[in-house]
Amino acid sequence: MSGSPIYETFARVPLAFERGEGAFLFTTDGERYLDFAAGIAVNALGHSHPHLVAALTEQAGKLWHVSNLYEIPAQTRLAERLVEASFADKVFFTNSGAEALECAIKTARRYHYVSGHPERFRTITFEGAFHGRTLATIAAGGQEKYLEGYGPKVEGFDQVPFGDLEAVEKAITPETAAILIEPVQGEGGIRAVPAATLKKLRELADKHGLLLIFDEVQCGVGRTGKLFAHEWAGIAPDLMAIAKGIGGGFPMGACLATDEAARGMTAGVHGTTFGGNPLAMAVGNAVLDVVLAEGFLEDVQRKALLLKQGLAAVADEFPTVIADIRGSGLMLGLKCVVPNKDLNNALRDQHMLAVTAGDNVIRLLPPLTVTDGEIHDALARLRAAAGSLAGTAAVAAQ
Ligand SMILES: *Cc1c(COP(=O)(O)O)cnc(C)c1O
Repeated sequence: MSGSPIYETFARVPLAFERGEGAFLFTTDGERYLDFAAGIAVNALGHSHPHLVAALTEQAGKLWHVSNLYEIPAQTRLAERLVEASFADKVFFTNSGAEALECAIKTARRYHYVSGHPERFRTITFEGAFHGRTLATIAAGGQEKYLEGYGPKVEGFDQVPFGDLEAVEKAITPETAAILIEPVQGEGGIRAVPAATLKKLRELADKHGLLLIFDEVQCGVGRTGKLFAHEWAGIAPDLMAIAKGIGGGFPMGACLATDEAARGMTAGVHGTTFGGNPLAMAVGNAVLDVVLAEGFLEDVQRKALLLKQGLAAVADEFPTVIADIRGSGLMLGLKCVVPNKDLNNALRDQHMLAVTAGDNVIRLLPPLTVTDGEIHDALARLRAAAGSLAGTAAVAAQ
């Protein structure tokens, strides 16, 4: 054996955290980091949120796991609440985002199958998309770097350029089953799909009898200041995958569907061992207690504006480092002039955590519970980080 006993698939930063509190993480050496990465939008309520800790520990003393062969009341309750708060009528719980997408893709294929059209199995996706790392979801994402070396790409995915409605229309064939899109691309570089484009996709789906699938694994559950990002566009999908934020750090995901879209999903056609497990459901319900509380999402919108305006001021101050601010709610991107990795490292030198994304962007995904004070703290650290790079960037430009 050489090096770490862990697969070398992640280029890890040599930092280990042992404790978290709200928007802060503490290393094993006792150093404190301001966490504007939040586990890539997973720790939606920050670290060690008292309501989540109580829900998980209380459930842990009662029952950890029962098979989906039995009724799981907390699962029914969480599904009822998600249905109540969304377009959906039915929910399937999973352990991860990729599995939620797999369920959505399978549901769309089954819908056409039971409607007498087994030939309709193809899904249209968009360049820059990220839908997970299973064999089907890397095919859906269509990124060469994730597909390489894994044999023939899973059949049934047709990719078109980001936001190109004409290309979507051209890509629709008698075999098309669905259109799959992230309302705000995460890994692709915090690229929000314009509301008009989402509306047009809804129209195209209706016109051609396709199912519209939204991947809200990263942008859902309050991240943009609405419970779901597509609410800003005033339209709804037929199917939606969520994950990251709904577990607040506990691994879970869900596929939400209308009754019509889910009509092919009958007993025995899909399953999961761990999905919808009582521990996950206790936490998922606790996350919703907080996110759906009166005024919570309005406050996310208010704080998002504060952060975005502050970021715009820093970008103005350091135009050789940051070109532009983009994104929605507390899902913001800094389009960098310098390599995004350099800015990410400079932020880490300031003891602040962010995440890189495609298109030379730095993602800022603070906990939705972030305070105004922590936002000002983050802006000061960003200013220091940008300042440390501005000198070298100016010299390089000469
Ligand atoms: C993270 C992510 C996924 C994959 O989720 P996993 O839990 O890693 O499988 C899918 N879609 C989007 C938009 C994501 O951000």
